[in-house]
Amino acid sequence: MDTANQWRALSDEIARCNRCRLCEGRRNVVVGRGSLAAGAMLVGEGPGEQEDIQGLPFVGRAGKLLDLALEGLMYGPDDFYIANIVKCRPPGNRAPLDDEAEACLPFLRRQFMLIKPAVLVCMGATAAKHIIGKERTITKLRGEWMERKGWLIMPTFHPAALLRDESKKALMWHDLKKAKQRLDSVRAGADPGLRAGAEPGFRAGAEPGLRAGAEPGLRAGVEPGLRAGDSPQKR
Ligand code: SF4
Repeated sequence: MDTANQWRALSDEIARCNRCRLCEGRRNVVVGRGSLAAGAMLVGEGPGEQEDIQGLPFVGRAGKLLDLALEGLMYGPDDFYIANIVKCRPPGNRAPLDDEAEACLPFLRRQFMLIKPAVLVCMGATAAKHIIGKERTITKLRGEWMERKGWLIMPTFHPAALLRDESKKALMWHDLKKAKQRLDSVRAGADPGLRAGAEPGFRAGAEPGLRAGAEPGLRAGVEPGLRAGDSPQKR
């Protein structure tokens, strides 16, 4: 199957998915947005209200901050793809439970393996926990490159955190800038990157029913001085 058909099949499968309880309250599944040939993949936690309504990730207040940051850092439309740990909205914008995340991670693995980004940015503690397997606070993890099975991964804040605490903006901006510089450097051939082609270091194992290894199935920075908005809407 060619890549376009693999994407179509994956999107259809996600749209019909009822593997976890989150399917019960959703209006739309939220698969992702951005370039399918992106060099950077950004992963958040899960859809919020606006995302659930529109069927797209990061389209609420936090998403607007993220878009401003990406634009300000010269991420072009072909440079990034944005997705979440879970594809359906958790009730009340709570964090996904472990069993919900584990049910959904095979979809993210498949997205990751179709895109094969040069860098992966985990936005927020939930993404870091499920992708890197670290439960340390995001404040301690952020901004540092990590390598998992040959993939370059950087944790940073979720953009929603910036709505609650403006002091995080400069830090997230710094992290996203670092990710863009690394991406540019890999693309220019100055940095070989690490892509080993193996499954990235997602914490969850292979989906039951999928052959392990055959189908690996994954919040951001804002320029200091950008208006953060006010109420802490999730995404
Ligand atoms: S969150 Fe993921 S696993 Fe759960 S129902 Fe939605 S698509 Fe399926």
